[in-house]
Amino acid sequence: MSTPDQPFASYHLWSLIAPASGQERWHCQMRRGFIKARQHDPLVKALLKTATAPQRIGLLAQKGVYEFHHNRHLLNSEDGVEKVAQLLKLNYSSDEVQQRVLQILKKYHEEPLLSGKRIIQLTRGDEGFPKPILIERENYSFRLYATMDCVFSDSSDTLHILDFKTGKSAFDTRQALVYLLAARYLYPQYQAVASFYNLEFSKKSELISITKGELESLEFELASIAQKHQRDLQRYQLTNNSFSKIFPPNPGYHCRFCPFNSICDFSSLKPAKVHLPR
Ligand code: SF4
Repeated sequence: MSTPDQPFASYHLWSLIAPASGQERWHCQMRRGFIKARQHDPLVKALLKTATAPQRIGLLAQKGVYEFHHNRHLLNSEDGVEKVAQLLKLNYSSDEVQQRVLQILKKYHEEPLLSGKRIIQLTRGDEGFPKPILIERENYSFRLYATMDCVFSDSSDTLHILDFKTGKSAFDTRQALVYLLAARYLYPQYQAVASFYNLEFSKKSELISITKGELESLEFELASIAQKHQRDLQRYQLTNNSFSKIFPPNPGYHCRFCPFNSICDFSSLKPAKVHLPR
């Protein structure tokens, strides 16, 4: 995905380049470097493969919703939650993951948000990268990646893109905006709206929509992000030893939650290097 000669953009890249509002203090460009420039280094690769408990919960919750709608009778049967838990092989997960996912399945079984909706697309969550959308304009071109959890239609001409969440993290409107831009290319015959739904707290976000003019600006902004990242990758490829200049670290308390803290030279968790006098 990150070859230097092919600019791309996605919500994930956007979130790695620019912090969400209120998150500025904890934003670290070096994390982008590890994820998008050094992802093939064996140590980084191994860390990227290790799913954290919150990531597993998110993935299993999404799979659970998929299984409920793939095997519709389970939504109405008394042992539907147990059956879906078996399909997810939940007993192989840690106690924390099992408990939280079971709660999510119970809640969804009681209140299935997608019941009665015309579902156009519902992903399991483990399909990998989606096919990119090639956006080509006079002044820029880039590939847009947008993995939509669920697309359904409310009415004949309105498409609803829904993103499932778990845990306590806040909804980031930028993710919805990227979906709305993707929908413009994938489903041009529809008006589109997007929203988030937290499966753990049964919490819906407001509906997010965007005007044609705002879509144009958004596309331009994503093109700039794609170009900036491509330039950084090219610089890194040419000057391999300037990783920390191209992707500057921002160490702090948040290093505690960073998946790369064990290999990052700048992590606040590592003792400071002692420089001996020559
Ligand atoms: S450990 Fe800290 S400084 Fe290093 S990449 Fe992670 S957040 Fe940035």
